[in-house]
Amino acid sequence: MIISAQKSRTELLETLEGKIFVFLIGCGACATACKSGGEEEVFRMEEWLCDAGKEVTGSMIIDEACHIMRAGRDLRQHKAQVEKAEALVVLCCGAGVQSISQNSPKQVVAALDSLFLGNIRRFGQYEEKCSLCGSCILNETAGICPVTNCAKGLLNGPCGGMEQGRCEADPDLDCAWVRIFERLEEQGRPGVFDRVVEPKDWTAKGTPGRRHIKS
Ligand code: SF4
Ligand code: SF4
Repeated sequence: MIISAQKSRTELLETLEGKIFVFLIGCGACATACKSGGEEEVFRMEEWLCDAGKEVTGSMIIDEACHIMRAGRDLRQHKAQVEKAEALVVLCCGAGVQSISQNSPKQVVAALDSLFLGNIRRFGQYEEKCSLCGSCILNETAGICPVTNCAKGLLNGPCGGMEQGRCEADPDLDCAWVRIFERLEEQGRPGVFDRVVEPKDWTAKGTPGRRHIKS
C-alpha cells in the first residue's frame, strides 16, 4: 500500500492562509490503514482546524480515493458542503489528491506526504520493498529487490563498502547483495550472478504510467 504521513500543521496553515471554509476528505484504503487519513484522523483534523479558526463545511471518507470515478461520485453526494468550501483539504496520498482535483475546480490542499509503496511488518511498521521500476529482476535475485533494498540501487553488487555483511550506508541493515548471494546459494542456483546486469531501462516504467486492460 501507499505509505503516507501528515504534513506539518505549520505547512497546512500556510497553504490555507486567507481561507476560512474548508471541506475535509479522507481515504478508506491506504491512508486509513497507515493512520494518516482515515476517519479518526479526519475527525482530529476537523477539531484542529476549528481551533485554528477555520470553518469545516463537511467531511467524507472515500472508499478508495485513487478511484477517479468514485471520488467524483462522492463529491457530488456532498455537493452543497463542497460548494460552500473555499478549499478541499485532502488526507490521501498524492494519487487520491489528484482524483479530487480532477473532479473539482476548487483549491485542493494535500494534507499528507506520500512516502513509498510499503509492506506491513506489523501495525505501524512499514518497509519499502519495491520501487515500481517497471522491469522486475526478482526472479534472478532470489526474491530480494536490489533496486530498493540496496541503498545505492546497485544491479551488480555488492559495493566496496559492504563490511561483514552489513550495508555501509546503514550498518543496522544487512547488505542486500549479501542476502541475495546467500539465498541463491541456499537455492543452489547462480541467479543474477551468472551475468553482468546492464543499466536498467527506466523507459520500461514510463512516466506518467498508463495501463489499459481490455476485457
Ligand atoms: S526489481 Fe523493480 S519491480 Fe521488481 S521488486 Fe524491485 S523495484 Fe519492484
Ligand atoms: S553495502 Fe550492500 S546494500 Fe549497502 S550500498 Fe553497498 S551493495 Fe548496497
